[in-house]
Amino acid sequence: MSDLKQRSLSLLSALGVDPAQLAAGPLAVRSPVDGSLLAELAIEGPSQVTGAIGMARTASLAWRDVPAPQRGQLVRLLGEELRAAKPQLGELVSIEAGKIGTEGLGEVQEMIDICDFAVGLSRQLYGLTIASERPGHRMMETWHPLGVVGVITAFNFPVAVWAWNAALALVCGNAVVWKPSEKTPLTALACQAIFERAARRFGQAPAQLNQVIVGLRETGEVLVDDARVALVSATGSTRMGRAVGPRVAQRFGRSLLELGGNNAVIVTPSADLDLAVRGIAFAAVGTAGQRCTSTRRLIVHASVKDALVGRLKTAFARLPIGSPLEAGTLVGPLIDRQAFEAMQAALAAARAEGGTVTGGERVLDHAFPQAFYVRPAIVEMPAQTDTVRHETFAPILYVLAYTDFDEAIALQNEVPQGLSSAIFSNDLREAERFLSASGSDCGIANVNIGTSGAEIGGAFGGEKETGGGRESGSDAWRAYMRRATNTVNYSRALPLAQGVKFDV
Ligand code: NAD
Repeated sequence: MSDLKQRSLSLLSALGVDPAQLAAGPLAVRSPVDGSLLAELAIEGPSQVTGAIGMARTASLAWRDVPAPQRGQLVRLLGEELRAAKPQLGELVSIEAGKIGTEGLGEVQEMIDICDFAVGLSRQLYGLTIASERPGHRMMETWHPLGVVGVITAFNFPVAVWAWNAALALVCGNAVVWKPSEKTPLTALACQAIFERAARRFGQAPAQLNQVIVGLRETGEVLVDDARVALVSATGSTRMGRAVGPRVAQRFGRSLLELGGNNAVIVTPSADLDLAVRGIAFAAVGTAGQRCTSTRRLIVHASVKDALVGRLKTAFARLPIGSPLEAGTLVGPLIDRQAFEAMQAALAAARAEGGTVTGGERVLDHAFPQAFYVRPAIVEMPAQTDTVRHETFAPILYVLAYTDFDEAIALQNEVPQGLSSAIFSNDLREAERFLSASGSDCGIANVNIGTSGAEIGGAFGGEKETGGGRESGSDAWRAYMRRATNTVNYSRALPLAQGVKFDV
């Protein structure tokens, strides 16, 4: 048994996962750290998924009648259990998804933060009171639970994205069925065990209020097609969203799509280059470029391009690349061979389009022959080509020079995706223009801070091929509820709206 398998089994057992689940079937789970086999899980077939949805439906019927502030108490306990489990769950994220230690722990912290947020929210599911045009009438909105929420997640945020969805869905009175990425099901089983501990302590949660279904795309498709799933919240590639969105719409279900990004940073002549170097480097190479918000494009004014790109090349050349389980590592592995090959194909295509590539090569292949570590690449491009417009889920930073600010904004917006964006500038006019209606077209637009590492208090998501969904903070909770408009007549007359007369 490999060291990592032993370590992950002991973490899973400490987190409360039944070991019988870990050697039960054909889904081989491998660690990107060294490629070793961690577990072999059973895959849920269509009848098991359908059964899980049925149980979730039953749970939702009981849960919707529990007052929202009480529902919040379950999520408070979930937050407490996550606090207690943070070191183990964070390490398991590092083993299964390849994140460096602080990022694995940071992901669990994000789960704790959204639980705190959702507890407060459980007393703030506000509807409006609306002025009625009729005398003796009152109008208001009430918000009700949807029923069953299906959550489909990607490998790169294997636990936080479930928590963003589940914490809000639960305080909003729904039951959750979660299909994690087939590349990271172990952390999902750990979250389920943590949830069940919280539910036991809470004491009055209906059975099967949150369930995990392990499987491949086909498993997710059953969730997508089932009319009892009122909302499908799906995080992953645009390719996945293109398949899921129309299928859910076909049955008039709701979908919340969080898809690919192609995030740019604009650096203007007045920028603080010290800040810019740090902000860009973290966002471009953190999580080995495998965040939906990773910086993939640098649009820099020609007058500062050489200075900035020179400093970035020096920083990239010095990056400590290695096992994410070792202290000091800043860049861990790509998730698998397929991700490595996609990166190499993108670099070859960029070269063919006139790009100059620095870095991008495989490293540590002797130490880790079954894993894929790369030096992050900087690619200076003559223009924004098709390769640059495409999201390659790897640490590649394309550099484009501009001379006119309008041109910079046009380049920033001229990609199919619209997730995150940033400007480094000390010029108030440029910064405000970037945030204005004629500035960035993304769901996230930042000033003097990189594109990744969002806080949970804001609504998270993006436009265009990113899917339009919003999760996490602000009023994102509304996606998990249905709105009813109520008109109450407390008069003895029955006036009709718009002055219509209809006396019978
Ligand atoms: P992926 O699209 O390959 O898989 C994501 C999930 O969707 C998996 O659970 C997979 O089994 C499931 N799936 C795939 N096709 C499906 C279908 N037709 N029906 C139902 N389920 C289906 O993505 P990935 O490689 O795991 O993750 C990387 C991608 O996710 C990147 O594009 C990244 O930008 C994106 N992402 C976006 C966000 C965001 O919030 N916008 C967050 C994280 C990741």
